[in-house]
Amino acid sequence: MRKNIVAGNWKMNTTLAEGVGLAKDVNEALKGIDAKCDVVICVPFTHLASVAGVIDSKLGLGAENCADHLKGAYTGEVSAPMVASTGAKYVILGHSERRQYYGETSEILKTKVNLALEENLTPIFCIGEVLEERENGTFLDVVTKQIEEALFDLSAEDFGKLILAYEPVWAIGTGKTATADQAEEMHAHIRSVIAGKYGKEVADNCSILYGGSCKPSNAKELFEKPDVDGGLIGGAALDCASFMGIVTAF
Ligand code: PEP
Repeated sequence: MRKNIVAGNWKMNTTLAEGVGLAKDVNEALKGIDAKCDVVICVPFTHLASVAGVIDSKLGLGAENCADHLKGAYTGEVSAPMVASTGAKYVILGHSERRQYYGETSEILKTKVNLALEENLTPIFCIGEVLEERENGTFLDVVTKQIEEALFDLSAEDFGKLILAYEPVWAIGTGKTATADQAEEMHAHIRSVIAGKYGKEVADNCSILYGGSCKPSNAKELFEKPDVDGGLIGGAALDCASFMGIVTAF
């Protein structure tokens, strides 16, 4: 059966010393509880190796992106094998900030997913509509297309290795959360789209996280929904107490 997961996305925040400190705090806090979900922190590239050295196996580690090439003359890029060599096990792909600010298309993301899977990294693949698409009622179709375009060339076996994160763009960093019912409607839709392509078993086994202004005060209500299997957490992941408040919402 699918796993419940809470994953932090630190984005472009924290110096190395601050990040290592935060990772140590989360690691310590996790030791003191019997978490009912897997817990992952996705951190800047510069922090990966150092953070890997201070956390236990109970806390998963991921990158926030990887390159769409394996190696070579791509100045400033970081490849999937480089990420994997740090000890990271996860990689966020297709975050709306990457799509919006760095022009990441479904074609590019398809390549990144394949490269990540070749390195045995688990992609946390983000999908979600912008406000206009929510308001004009096309949001279900938009998300269907994002999934079909980037992921439906995968075999069922490879698709089964993914974690999906539904992140309505209008809810990211805005303080505006999707209601639990809005999240459930989309998560159930995503699961039915997966079932249509790969069958019910693959769909039922896929963890689908919600992301967008998730915090300790709204996490429980969201996570209680049958198709919401956890959260991808931005702002609230930068504070150990807030992050743990979300982890313990399960
Ligand atoms: C995110 O960017 O993945 C995210 C969910 O951000 P926030 O929690 O800050 O809205």
